[in-house]
Amino acid sequence: MSSVYPRRTTPPISDKKAANVDEFIPSDLNIPDNYVQHTLKTQKALPPFNWSNWYNEINWLNFFILIFTPILGLVGAYYTPLRAKTFWFSVFYYYMTGLGITAGYHRLWAHRSYNASKPLQYFLAMVGAGAVEGSIKWWSRGHRAHHRYTDTDLDPYNAHKGFTYSHIGWMILKPRRKPGVADVSDLSKNEVVRWQHRHYIPLILLMSFVVPTVIPWLLWGDAMGGYVYAGILRLCFVHHSTFCVNSLAHWLGEAPFDDKHTPRDHLITALVTIGEGYHNFHHQFPMDYRNAIKWYQYDPTKWFIWAMQQIGLASHLKVFPDNEVRKGQLTMQLKKLRETQETLAWPSDSNDLPVISWDSFQEQAQKRPLVLISGFIHDMTNFIDEHPGGPHLLIKMIGKDATTAFFGGVYDHSNAAHNLLAMKRVGVLNGGHPHGLEDKSIPPSQRLKIARYNELSSPYGSSTAYSDGEGMVY
Ligand SMILES: [Zn+2]
Ligand SMILES: [Zn+2]
Repeated sequence: MSSVYPRRTTPPISDKKAANVDEFIPSDLNIPDNYVQHTLKTQKALPPFNWSNWYNEINWLNFFILIFTPILGLVGAYYTPLRAKTFWFSVFYYYMTGLGITAGYHRLWAHRSYNASKPLQYFLAMVGAGAVEGSIKWWSRGHRAHHRYTDTDLDPYNAHKGFTYSHIGWMILKPRRKPGVADVSDLSKNEVVRWQHRHYIPLILLMSFVVPTVIPWLLWGDAMGGYVYAGILRLCFVHHSTFCVNSLAHWLGEAPFDDKHTPRDHLITALVTIGEGYHNFHHQFPMDYRNAIKWYQYDPTKWFIWAMQQIGLASHLKVFPDNEVRKGQLTMQLKKLRETQETLAWPSDSNDLPVISWDSFQEQAQKRPLVLISGFIHDMTNFIDEHPGGPHLLIKMIGKDATTAFFGGVYDHSNAAHNLLAMKRVGVLNGGHPHGLEDKSIPPSQRLKIARYNELSSPYGSSTAYSDGEGMVY
């Protein structure tokens, strides 16, 4: 992992025309320690939506953009034949404007996961404007709040409010409360971000409609096709593709790194979001420039950033330490194994069993088939006839110590046989465990049993560190 933070150009504080000096002060500098609970408790939320108030609660600008763009696109497509060149250009332009969001807005500006040269920043700011999702600054502010307050009411696209709400509802309806505080003062200092914020409206018109119309017009004379397919319909695809990061990526798939919150990993989400589908990984390691860590996992945004590094336009790509990434994976694997472990019945240990004297063992063995192995007394009722080696070998051991015979003297029993034997424990011989070997008293299935830290006698019990008596620990 690179320890070097992206270098940003800090404008002189006197540059008041370009930005308000207040914007350079981190907005979360003086928040109280109990900010989240305090805000949720004291800040009044607007009343919930219902049939009588919904029309007052709609953000009509967003509503028109998000509802009428697809309608306009479909009507246009009905009257406009799709030419092959225009189709491939639309796909290409979809990826360009999508990367503006994923590689630019998301991984570069919201998460600072790499450094980008000025030409690359201007390119990403321009194609990102072509996705019509708000300015870098507005988008990053919401996204940082999403990461900081995931799954709470301070998360602007809280996945607990349902798939539709986190996909599109949060933009169409006026929010019930302000997103939680998230600092973007670093972006206020960035000249490219400020430039894009200042010229946002002309930029979206240029990048979303003019460029995709003019290129097919000049190169193969298809202005209308370019406008409808590479302009309007491409915009709908980019919208819903990137919106899936807030909805589908918090709903579909597995949680291989952590299951505390809703983010999930899934190939389908990755395919529709230009590689943002490994969202469980992303929420755990948000400053990593990758979403997918395996080479075969689909993450074109990662490939794009890597390629930019190869040609010298990007640098300081951040990668979280692999040791910590694997620790997260192991924790989830252990958790699953522990769940399986808890569905199984386990043998009683010596603390749960009565301690029986040798004489009592002899006396009780007259009444039922008791056999001593590794200090434990086992009741073989219902098993004598099932014994694979034949009943006679078991019968002759009733009332005797069969440890040597069980562990190879007569037959070196399988792990399964040892596990089954342990289930037949009924007591411990007084002064027992004569063989003192752990592997004989602990059945194989329990030797790697998963224990929580508070179930161990000492959390460091298995540590191999030791002191040399002079305070030095190895
Ligand atoms: Zn998320
Ligand atoms: Zn993110």
